[in-house]
Amino acid sequence: MAKPVLNAPQFQTESDAFAYVEARLWPNGPVCPHCQETARIGRLNGKTTRPGLHKCYACKKPFTVRMGTLFEDSHLPLHLWLQVIHLMCASKKGIATRQIQRMLNCSMKTAWFLGHRIRLAMDPGAATPIGGAGKTVEADDMEVGRSPKTRRRPKGRRGNMRILSLVERGGTIRSIILDHLGVAPRLYKHLDKRSRLVTDSANVFKRSGAAKHEAVDHSKFEWARGDVHTNTLEGFFSIFKRGIVGVYQHIDAKHFDRYAAEFDFRMNQRVKLGYSDTDRADAALQGVNGKRLTYETTH
Ligand SMILES: [Zn+2]
Repeated sequence: MAKPVLNAPQFQTESDAFAYVEARLWPNGPVCPHCQETARIGRLNGKTTRPGLHKCYACKKPFTVRMGTLFEDSHLPLHLWLQVIHLMCASKKGIATRQIQRMLNCSMKTAWFLGHRIRLAMDPGAATPIGGAGKTVEADDMEVGRSPKTRRRPKGRRGNMRILSLVERGGTIRSIILDHLGVAPRLYKHLDKRSRLVTDSANVFKRSGAAKHEAVDHSKFEWARGDVHTNTLEGFFSIFKRGIVGVYQHIDAKHFDRYAAEFDFRMNQRVKLGYSDTDRADAALQGVNGKRLTYETTH
């Protein structure tokens, strides 16, 4: 992996890291997390005061920008958080837990948990259907897992994970973990019915409710017919697979949705849509608000 540029000030010192995060989470000045006061707030600047400490003169309580965010329960310095967020946003296939561990010189457990907190920040949560009038949406499903040659489990689907992804061309992607419900009901739920849908010729895509549906027939070696193809998703699946197999290696099925959120996030903030690595990291930073993840809820 190419070495990302981490010599910007916010990655180096705690006070610069706080200034960076405050500018982004408090664009209109500090907000008291206890009582929402915005006016009567002072910054505490004593020599022994920890960085970023503020005091609210309405409720008399101290606070920092970390409160009420994903950073709150963590002892990790903010500038190290920013380093890991940046790396995760800049690495196309994700970043291995071992690499986080080496960077921060922390335990595997801490590194693993940190990665999952950032994935939570990347998760958009409740979302509207994909596509719309005049929009083209590609849909396809993918299986991720060990190849039959190296798989230790007995034959069959067990142990492998499947996702359904929908992407609006030039727009948003969403990946949904498939369980026993399968593709059809998920597609129906997440697709804006005014869209034009393009898929392969599998039967599961036939009851999507889309205004228009066109399919290429892979069984007849037809991969594209004009703009009827699923190449955007093929590209995404290829990166996702290489990330899961090459970087993350042993992921647990019960956390698969978080990895899907991570790969979706980078795709949604892709270079083609005008995002730089820094823009992408700033977008992830916007997701830390109001999200808490305790070690217990991860297990
Ligand atoms: Zn207050």
